Amino acid sequence: MSLAYGRHFLAIPGPSVMPDRVLNAMHRGAPNIYEGAIVELVDGLAEDLRRVARSKDAGVAIYTCNGHGAWEAAIANLFNRGDRILTLDCGRFAEGWAQTAQGMGVDAQVVMTGDRGPVPPETLEQLLREDKAHEIKAVMVVQVDTASSACNDIAALRRAIDAAGHPALFMVDCIASLGSERFEFDDWGVDVMVAGSQKGLMTPPGLAFCFVGPKAWEHRGELVSVYWDWRPRIRPEMPYQRFGGTAPTHHLFGLREALTMLLEEEGLENAWARHAAMGDAVRAAVAGWSEGSNDGPMEFNVSDPAYRSNAVTTILTRGFEPRKLRALCESEMNVTLGIGLGRFAQTSFRIGHMGWVNPPMILGVLGAVETALDALEVPHGPGLSAAAASLGKAMRKAA
Ligand SMILES: *Cc1c(COP(=O)(O)O)cnc(C)c1O
Repeated sequence: MSLAYGRHFLAIPGPSVMPDRVLNAMHRGAPNIYEGAIVELVDGLAEDLRRVARSKDAGVAIYTCNGHGAWEAAIANLFNRGDRILTLDCGRFAEGWAQTAQGMGVDAQVVMTGDRGPVPPETLEQLLREDKAHEIKAVMVVQVDTASSACNDIAALRRAIDAAGHPALFMVDCIASLGSERFEFDDWGVDVMVAGSQKGLMTPPGLAFCFVGPKAWEHRGELVSVYWDWRPRIRPEMPYQRFGGTAPTHHLFGLREALTMLLEEEGLENAWARHAAMGDAVRAAVAGWSEGSNDGPMEFNVSDPAYRSNAVTTILTRGFEPRKLRALCESEMNVTLGIGLGRFAQTSFRIGHMGWVNPPMILGVLGAVETALDALEVPHGPGLSAAAASLGKAMRKAA
Protein backbone atom coordinates (compact mmCIF):
# COMPACT_ATOMS: atom_id res chain seq x y z
CA MET A 1 0.00 0.00 0.00
CA SER A 2 1.07 3.57 -0.66
CA LEU A 3 -0.67 6.70 0.58
CA ALA A 4 0.59 8.63 -2.44
CA TYR A 5 -2.68 9.46 -4.10
CA GLY A 6 -4.42 12.59 -5.32
CA ARG A 7 -2.66 15.74 -6.42
CA HIS A 8 1.12 15.74 -6.53
CA PHE A 9 2.75 18.62 -4.66
CA LEU A 10 6.05 19.99 -5.96
CA ALA A 11 7.84 21.77 -3.09
CA ILE A 12 11.18 22.32 -4.82
CA PRO A 13 12.61 25.81 -5.35
CA GLY A 14 11.73 25.99 -9.01
CA PRO A 15 9.97 25.15 -11.13
CA SER A 16 7.24 26.13 -8.72
CA VAL A 17 3.60 25.04 -8.77
CA MET A 18 1.90 26.36 -11.90
CA PRO A 19 -1.56 27.86 -11.34
CA ASP A 20 -4.28 26.04 -13.32
CA ARG A 21 -5.25 29.41 -14.78
CA VAL A 22 -1.76 29.88 -16.21
CA LEU A 23 -1.79 26.40 -17.74
CA ASN A 24 -5.29 26.91 -19.12
CA ALA A 25 -4.29 30.24 -20.67
CA MET A 26 -1.68 28.33 -22.69
CA HIS A 27 -4.12 25.73 -23.96
CA ARG A 28 -5.09 27.22 -27.31
CA GLY A 29 -4.04 27.39 -30.93
CA ALA A 30 -1.08 29.47 -32.08
CA PRO A 31 -1.82 33.09 -33.00
CA ASN A 32 -0.50 35.20 -35.87
CA ILE A 33 2.92 36.30 -34.66
CA TYR A 34 3.37 39.23 -37.07
CA GLU A 35 0.51 41.53 -36.13
CA GLY A 36 -2.53 41.84 -33.95
CA ALA A 37 -3.17 40.75 -30.40
CA ILE A 38 0.17 39.07 -29.70
CA VAL A 39 2.11 42.26 -30.52
CA GLU A 40 0.06 44.27 -28.05
CA LEU A 41 0.30 41.50 -25.50
CA VAL A 42 4.11 41.64 -25.62
CA ASP A 43 4.18 45.43 -25.15
CA GLY A 44 2.00 44.97 -22.08
CA LEU A 45 4.22 42.19 -20.75
CA ALA A 46 7.35 44.36 -20.95
CA GLU A 47 5.51 47.13 -19.10
CA ASP A 48 4.28 44.73 -16.40
CA LEU A 49 7.67 43.06 -16.00
CA ARG A 50 9.11 46.53 -15.33
CA ARG A 51 6.45 46.94 -12.63
CA VAL A 52 7.46 43.63 -11.04
CA ALA A 53 11.12 44.75 -11.06
CA ARG A 54 10.09 48.23 -9.83
CA SER A 55 11.64 50.20 -12.65
CA LYS A 56 10.24 53.12 -14.60
CA ASP A 57 12.26 52.67 -17.75
CA ALA A 58 14.64 49.70 -17.67
CA GLY A 59 14.80 47.88 -20.99
CA VAL A 60 13.27 44.39 -20.84
CA ALA A 61 14.67 41.71 -23.13
CA ILE A 62 12.68 38.47 -23.20
CA TYR A 63 14.49 35.30 -24.25
CA THR A 64 13.15 31.83 -25.01
CA CYS A 65 15.50 30.05 -22.60
CA ASN A 66 16.07 29.27 -18.94
CA GLY A 67 17.99 31.29 -16.36
CA HIS A 68 21.35 30.06 -17.60
CA GLY A 69 20.53 31.64 -20.95
CA ALA A 70 19.85 35.01 -19.31
CA TRP A 71 23.19 34.71 -17.47
CA GLU A 72 24.94 34.23 -20.78
CA ALA A 73 22.95 37.00 -22.49
CA ALA A 74 23.93 39.56 -19.86
CA ILE A 75 27.61 38.67 -20.13
CA ALA A 76 27.62 38.63 -23.94
CA ASN A 77 26.00 42.05 -24.20
CA LEU A 78 28.32 43.78 -21.74
CA PHE A 79 31.83 42.38 -21.91
CA ASN A 80 34.91 41.81 -24.01
CA ARG A 81 37.26 38.88 -23.81
CA GLY A 82 39.64 39.42 -20.88
CA ASP A 83 37.45 41.96 -19.05
CA ARG A 84 37.70 41.70 -15.28
CA ILE A 85 34.54 41.20 -13.26
CA LEU A 86 33.98 40.41 -9.60
CA THR A 87 31.48 37.84 -8.28
CA LEU A 88 30.61 37.39 -4.63
CA ASP A 89 29.08 34.03 -3.86
CA CYS A 90 27.17 32.93 -0.74
CA GLY A 91 26.11 29.49 -1.91
CA ARG A 92 26.41 28.25 -5.42
CA PHE A 93 24.58 30.33 -8.00
CA ALA A 94 26.76 33.44 -8.29
CA GLU A 95 29.69 31.11 -8.86
CA GLY A 96 27.68 29.41 -11.59
CA TRP A 97 27.12 32.77 -13.27
CA ALA A 98 30.85 33.50 -13.02
CA GLN A 99 31.69 30.11 -14.56
CA THR A 100 29.51 31.02 -17.52
CA ALA A 101 31.51 34.25 -17.88
CA GLN A 102 34.82 32.36 -17.57
CA GLY A 103 33.72 29.96 -20.28
CA MET A 104 33.18 32.96 -22.54
CA GLY A 105 36.69 34.29 -21.95
CA VAL A 106 35.84 36.88 -19.29
CA ASP A 107 38.20 37.15 -16.33
CA ALA A 108 35.59 36.54 -13.64
CA GLN A 109 36.99 36.43 -10.12
CA VAL A 110 34.87 34.52 -7.60
CA VAL A 111 35.05 35.39 -3.92
CA MET A 112 33.24 32.87 -1.72
CA THR A 113 32.02 34.69 1.37
CA GLY A 114 30.59 31.61 3.11
CA ASP A 115 27.51 29.50 2.41
CA ARG A 116 25.61 30.08 5.65
CA GLY A 117 24.81 33.76 5.35
CA PRO A 118 24.66 36.69 2.97
CA VAL A 119 27.53 38.41 1.20
CA PRO A 120 28.93 40.99 3.67
CA PRO A 121 28.79 44.47 2.07
CA GLU A 122 32.10 45.32 3.83
CA THR A 123 33.83 42.59 1.84
CA LEU A 124 32.57 44.09 -1.42
CA GLU A 125 33.59 47.60 -0.39
CA GLN A 126 37.06 46.41 0.59
CA LEU A 127 37.61 44.51 -2.67
CA LEU A 128 36.54 47.50 -4.73
CA ARG A 129 38.76 49.90 -2.73
CA GLU A 130 41.72 47.67 -3.54
CA ASP A 131 40.98 48.09 -7.26
CA LYS A 132 42.45 51.59 -7.46
CA ALA A 133 42.75 51.52 -11.26
CA HIS A 134 39.03 50.68 -11.59
CA GLU A 135 39.75 47.65 -13.74
CA ILE A 136 36.73 45.74 -12.44
CA LYS A 137 33.96 46.27 -14.99
CA ALA A 138 31.09 44.77 -13.01
CA VAL A 139 30.01 43.20 -9.74
CA MET A 140 27.74 40.13 -9.95
CA VAL A 141 25.64 38.79 -7.06
CA VAL A 142 22.40 36.87 -6.59
CA GLN A 143 19.53 38.20 -4.49
CA VAL A 144 18.49 34.79 -3.14
CA ASP A 145 21.02 31.99 -3.43
CA THR A 146 18.78 28.99 -3.99
CA ALA A 147 21.37 26.54 -2.63
CA SER A 148 22.07 28.23 0.72
CA SER A 149 18.70 30.09 0.87
CA ALA A 150 20.51 33.25 1.98
CA CYS A 151 18.86 36.49 0.89
CA ASN A 152 21.34 39.25 0.17
CA ASP A 153 20.78 42.88 1.13
CA ILE A 154 20.99 44.31 -2.38
CA ALA A 155 20.55 47.92 -1.26
CA ALA A 156 23.47 47.55 1.17
CA LEU A 157 25.66 46.02 -1.55
CA ARG A 158 24.85 49.03 -3.77
CA ARG A 159 25.86 51.36 -0.93
CA ALA A 160 29.14 49.45 -0.60
CA ILE A 161 29.93 50.07 -4.29
CA ASP A 162 29.14 53.76 -3.84
CA ALA A 163 31.15 53.99 -0.62
CA ALA A 164 34.18 52.65 -2.50
CA GLY A 165 33.57 55.28 -5.21
CA HIS A 166 33.78 52.52 -7.81
CA PRO A 167 32.17 52.79 -11.28
CA ALA A 168 31.54 49.03 -11.75
CA LEU A 169 28.17 47.93 -13.13
CA PHE A 170 25.95 46.24 -10.54
CA MET A 171 24.40 42.99 -11.81
CA VAL A 172 21.89 40.96 -9.81
CA ASP A 173 20.40 37.49 -10.39
CA CYS A 174 16.79 37.50 -9.15
CA ILE A 175 15.86 34.18 -10.75
CA ALA A 176 14.76 32.68 -7.42
CA SER A 177 13.34 35.83 -5.88
CA LEU A 178 11.51 38.04 -8.38
CA GLY A 179 7.87 38.33 -7.34
CA SER A 180 8.60 36.73 -3.96
CA GLU A 181 11.05 39.07 -2.22
CA ARG A 182 11.06 42.85 -2.27
CA PHE A 183 13.26 44.05 -5.09
CA GLU A 184 13.69 47.67 -6.24
CA PHE A 185 15.57 47.97 -9.52
CA ASP A 186 15.55 51.80 -9.65
CA ASP A 187 15.77 52.66 -5.95
CA TRP A 188 18.57 50.19 -5.31
CA GLY A 189 20.64 51.37 -8.25
CA VAL A 190 20.80 48.04 -10.07
CA ASP A 191 22.22 48.18 -13.61
CA VAL A 192 21.31 44.70 -14.87
CA MET A 193 18.92 42.13 -13.40
CA VAL A 194 18.24 38.64 -14.72
CA ALA A 195 15.16 36.54 -13.94
CA GLY A 196 13.29 33.49 -15.17
CA SER A 197 9.65 32.53 -15.58
CA GLN A 198 9.44 29.35 -13.51
CA LYS A 199 9.88 30.41 -9.90
CA GLY A 200 8.09 33.41 -8.35
CA LEU A 201 6.53 34.24 -11.72
CA MET A 202 4.49 31.01 -11.75
CA THR A 203 4.96 30.27 -15.48
CA PRO A 204 6.50 27.10 -16.96
CA PRO A 205 10.27 27.07 -17.46
CA GLY A 206 11.32 28.46 -20.82
CA LEU A 207 11.34 32.26 -20.56
CA ALA A 208 14.11 34.39 -19.10
CA PHE A 209 14.54 38.12 -18.83
CA CYS A 210 17.28 40.71 -18.78
CA PHE A 211 16.42 44.08 -17.29
CA VAL A 212 18.81 46.72 -18.54
CA GLY A 213 19.31 50.10 -16.86
CA PRO A 214 20.60 53.22 -18.67
CA LYS A 215 24.24 52.79 -17.64
CA ALA A 216 24.33 49.19 -18.89
CA TRP A 217 22.56 50.18 -22.12
CA GLU A 218 25.62 52.29 -23.00
CA HIS A 219 27.89 49.23 -22.82
CA ARG A 220 28.36 46.94 -25.77
CA GLY A 221 30.60 43.91 -25.45
CA GLU A 222 32.35 42.30 -28.38
CA LEU A 223 31.10 38.94 -27.12
CA VAL A 224 27.55 39.70 -28.21
CA SER A 225 26.11 37.64 -31.06
CA VAL A 226 23.05 38.28 -33.20
CA TYR A 227 20.75 36.03 -31.24
CA TRP A 228 21.67 37.23 -27.74
CA ASP A 229 21.84 40.94 -28.60
CA TRP A 230 19.39 42.67 -26.29
CA ARG A 231 19.11 45.87 -28.33
CA PRO A 232 16.63 44.68 -30.99
CA ARG A 233 14.71 42.79 -28.31
CA ILE A 234 14.33 45.93 -26.22
CA ARG A 235 13.88 48.43 -29.07
CA PRO A 236 12.62 46.40 -32.02
CA GLU A 237 12.02 48.03 -35.38
CA MET A 238 9.68 45.15 -36.19
CA PRO A 239 7.82 42.99 -33.67
CA TYR A 240 9.59 39.92 -35.05
CA GLN A 241 12.92 41.18 -33.65
CA ARG A 242 11.73 41.04 -30.07
CA PHE A 243 12.40 37.32 -29.95
CA GLY A 244 15.10 36.93 -32.58
CA GLY A 245 12.58 34.80 -34.49
CA THR A 246 9.25 33.20 -33.66
CA ALA A 247 7.77 34.40 -30.38
CA PRO A 248 7.33 31.79 -27.62
CA THR A 249 3.60 32.39 -27.98
CA HIS A 250 2.22 29.97 -25.40
CA HIS A 251 4.66 30.95 -22.72
CA LEU A 252 3.64 34.55 -23.34
CA PHE A 253 -0.03 33.66 -22.84
CA GLY A 254 0.87 31.92 -19.59
CA LEU A 255 3.02 34.78 -18.37
CA ARG A 256 0.23 37.26 -19.19
CA GLU A 257 -2.13 35.37 -16.90
CA ALA A 258 0.48 35.09 -14.13
CA LEU A 259 1.31 38.80 -14.22
CA THR A 260 -2.38 39.69 -14.11
CA MET A 261 -2.72 37.51 -11.01
CA LEU A 262 0.38 39.04 -9.42
CA LEU A 263 -0.07 42.72 -10.26
CA GLU A 264 -3.78 43.33 -10.82
CA GLU A 265 -5.41 40.83 -8.51
CA GLU A 266 -3.10 40.19 -5.57
CA GLY A 267 -0.80 43.19 -5.79
CA LEU A 268 2.99 42.91 -5.69
CA GLU A 269 3.43 44.14 -2.12
CA ASN A 270 0.72 41.74 -0.94
CA ALA A 271 2.54 38.93 -2.71
CA TRP A 272 5.74 39.85 -0.84
CA ALA A 273 3.78 39.87 2.44
CA ARG A 274 2.23 36.48 1.63
CA HIS A 275 5.68 35.06 0.93
CA ALA A 276 6.91 36.44 4.26
CA ALA A 277 4.00 34.69 6.02
CA MET A 278 4.72 31.41 4.21
CA GLY A 279 8.44 31.72 4.97
CA ASP A 280 7.64 32.43 8.64
CA ALA A 281 5.45 29.31 8.78
CA VAL A 282 8.23 27.11 7.38
CA ARG A 283 10.72 28.67 9.78
CA ALA A 284 8.36 28.14 12.73
CA ALA A 285 8.12 24.46 11.81
CA VAL A 286 11.89 24.00 11.49
CA ALA A 287 12.45 25.77 14.81
CA GLY A 288 9.68 23.64 16.39
CA TRP A 289 11.10 20.34 15.14
CA SER A 290 14.49 21.27 16.57
CA GLU A 291 13.02 22.35 19.92
CA GLY A 292 14.05 20.89 23.23
CA SER A 293 17.70 20.23 22.54
CA ASN A 294 20.68 21.96 21.02
CA ASP A 295 21.33 19.00 18.81
CA GLY A 296 17.81 18.39 17.52
CA PRO A 297 17.24 16.71 14.17
CA MET A 298 17.77 19.83 12.07
CA GLU A 299 18.84 23.46 11.91
CA PHE A 300 18.63 26.38 9.51
CA ASN A 301 21.47 26.68 7.06
CA VAL A 302 21.32 30.47 7.29
CA SER A 303 22.25 31.31 10.86
CA ASP A 304 21.09 34.95 11.03
CA PRO A 305 17.26 35.06 10.83
CA ALA A 306 17.39 38.46 9.10
CA TYR A 307 18.83 36.88 5.95
CA ARG A 308 16.59 33.83 5.54
CA SER A 309 14.79 33.86 2.22
CA ASN A 310 11.01 33.93 1.89
CA ALA A 311 11.22 31.86 -1.31
CA VAL A 312 13.20 28.79 -0.18
CA THR A 313 14.54 27.30 3.05
CA THR A 314 17.65 25.13 3.27
CA ILE A 315 17.55 22.78 6.26
CA LEU A 316 20.61 20.95 7.60
CA THR A 317 19.86 17.55 9.13
CA ARG A 318 21.44 15.68 12.03
CA GLY A 319 21.21 11.99 12.78
CA PHE A 320 19.13 10.99 9.77
CA GLU A 321 19.53 10.90 6.04
CA PRO A 322 17.52 13.56 4.22
CA ARG A 323 17.52 11.26 1.20
CA LYS A 324 15.26 8.88 3.15
CA LEU A 325 12.98 11.70 4.24
CA ARG A 326 12.57 12.91 0.68
CA ALA A 327 11.99 9.38 -0.60
CA LEU A 328 9.22 8.75 1.95
CA CYS A 329 7.54 12.06 1.16
CA GLU A 330 7.68 11.23 -2.52
CA SER A 331 6.67 7.59 -2.54
CA GLU A 332 4.15 7.62 0.32
CA MET A 333 2.70 11.14 0.22
CA ASN A 334 3.13 12.50 -3.29
CA VAL A 335 5.19 15.44 -2.02
CA THR A 336 8.49 16.30 -3.69
CA LEU A 337 11.04 18.12 -1.52
CA GLY A 338 14.15 19.88 -2.82
CA ILE A 339 17.50 18.11 -2.76
CA GLY A 340 20.46 19.64 -0.96
CA LEU A 341 23.12 21.18 -3.17
CA GLY A 342 26.88 21.57 -2.95
CA ARG A 343 28.71 21.04 0.33
CA PHE A 344 25.52 19.95 2.11
CA ALA A 345 24.19 17.65 -0.61
CA GLN A 346 24.07 14.60 1.70
CA THR A 347 23.08 16.44 4.87
CA SER A 348 20.36 18.87 3.84
CA PHE A 349 17.09 19.27 2.04
CA ARG A 350 15.21 22.30 0.80
CA ILE A 351 11.60 23.41 0.84
CA GLY A 352 10.51 25.75 -1.93
CA HIS A 353 7.79 28.20 -0.89
CA MET A 354 7.68 30.54 -3.86
CA GLY A 355 4.94 31.54 -6.25
CA TRP A 356 1.48 30.02 -6.14
CA VAL A 357 1.44 28.82 -2.52
CA ASN A 358 -1.17 29.20 0.21
CA PRO A 359 -1.55 28.01 3.82
CA PRO A 360 -3.00 24.54 3.06
CA MET A 361 -0.20 23.90 0.57
CA ILE A 362 2.49 24.97 3.04
CA LEU A 363 0.88 23.19 5.99
CA GLY A 364 0.51 20.14 3.75
CA VAL A 365 4.18 19.99 2.90
CA LEU A 366 5.19 20.64 6.53
CA GLY A 367 2.74 17.97 7.67
CA ALA A 368 4.29 15.53 5.21
CA VAL A 369 7.77 16.28 6.58
CA GLU A 370 6.56 15.78 10.16
CA THR A 371 4.83 12.53 9.20
CA ALA A 372 8.00 11.29 7.51
CA LEU A 373 10.07 12.20 10.59
CA ASP A 374 7.69 10.05 12.66
CA ALA A 375 7.85 7.20 10.17
CA LEU A 376 11.65 7.34 10.32
CA GLU A 377 11.47 7.48 14.14
CA VAL A 378 13.46 10.70 14.23
CA PRO A 379 12.86 12.46 17.60
CA HIS A 380 11.53 15.97 17.07
CA GLY A 381 9.62 18.80 18.72
CA PRO A 382 6.26 20.14 17.52
CA GLY A 383 6.76 21.78 14.11
CA LEU A 384 3.44 21.61 12.32
CA SER A 385 1.47 23.19 15.16
CA ALA A 386 4.09 25.96 15.41
CA ALA A 387 3.62 26.66 11.70
CA ALA A 388 -0.16 26.80 12.14
CA ALA A 389 0.28 29.23 15.04
CA SER A 390 2.58 31.38 12.95
CA LEU A 391 0.03 31.58 10.13
CA GLY A 392 -2.72 32.32 12.64
CA LYS A 393 -0.69 35.24 13.91
CA ALA A 394 -0.16 36.55 10.37
CA MET A 395 -3.91 36.37 9.75
CA ARG A 396 -4.70 38.18 13.00
CA LYS A 397 -2.50 41.02 11.77
CA ALA A 398 -4.46 41.07 8.53
CA ALA A 399 -7.88 40.85 10.19
C1 LIG B 1 17.12 28.49 -10.65
C2 LIG B 1 18.23 29.47 -10.57
C3 LIG B 1 19.14 29.67 -11.61
C4 LIG B 1 19.15 28.81 -12.84
O1 LIG B 1 18.01 28.96 -13.59
P1 LIG B 1 17.69 27.89 -14.73
O2 LIG B 1 16.36 28.35 -15.25
O3 LIG B 1 17.66 26.56 -14.08
O4 LIG B 1 18.77 28.00 -15.75
C5 LIG B 1 20.07 30.66 -11.49
N1 LIG B 1 20.14 31.43 -10.37
C6 LIG B 1 19.31 31.25 -9.34
C7 LIG B 1 19.44 32.12 -8.14
C8 LIG B 1 18.33 30.27 -9.40
O5 LIG B 1 17.50 30.07 -8.36
